[in-house]
Amino acid sequence: MAADELLHDIRDRIAKASRLAGRKPADTTLIAVSKTHPAEAIEPLLVAGQRDFGENRVQEAEEKWPALRARYPDVTLHLIGQLQSNKAADAVALFDVIHSVDRPSLVTALGKAMAAGKRPDCFLQVNIGDEPQKGGCAIADVPALLANAREAGLPIVGLMAIPPADVEPAPYFALLAKMARDLGLSGLSMGMSADYETAVTLGATHVRVGSALFGARAAA
Ligand SMILES: *Cc1c(COP(=O)(O)O)cnc(C)c1O
Repeated sequence: MAADELLHDIRDRIAKASRLAGRKPADTTLIAVSKTHPAEAIEPLLVAGQRDFGENRVQEAEEKWPALRARYPDVTLHLIGQLQSNKAADAVALFDVIHSVDRPSLVTALGKAMAAGKRPDCFLQVNIGDEPQKGGCAIADVPALLANAREAGLPIVGLMAIPPADVEPAPYFALLAKMARDLGLSGLSMGMSADYETAVTLGATHVRVGSALFGARAAA
């Protein structure tokens, strides 16, 4: 399928999953995860009307997006990958939304970077499967990190998670949704190519879809 057909198919599936759950299609933002893909692969989606894009590396995004944005100024750029504190200022300058706030040292760095005035919306990333190799804040530490982030002036809009691979993701999505509800946060960044419909039925406000839109990525 061509890029615009894939896009319409995914939008249809999001709309169906929304209706199934009694939600509105417009309640979920589709983030097209364009990491590793060149501008030529991104352009057809821009032409088809897609405006939310996700990248996982600051430097790669800095190389690709200024030129695209000059032509599509209404793009919303989401940082979905782990962020090093020494890249915080660059991330704040480039991105509109940061989904990977996961530790106090990063909160401090982002707070300093935002003192200049630009304040991208932020999600706290939760290590929802308690996996040692994965980024994200431990579940028990999320309330303290939220307080810390608010004190530092970060606009925290919700929670983000990547459930463990190869197991049914629904219980993890439901747990993240419950945590957000308990904390009074409305944003839920969850669901990728393999499971975004499930995530939508469980309340996702942002799904991050890469390979289903762009095809498989080259091995890292
Ligand atoms: C790469 C990535 C995605 C997209 O993954 P696909 O399975 O290709 O849809 C979503 N979220 C994060 C954090 C990623 O790094």
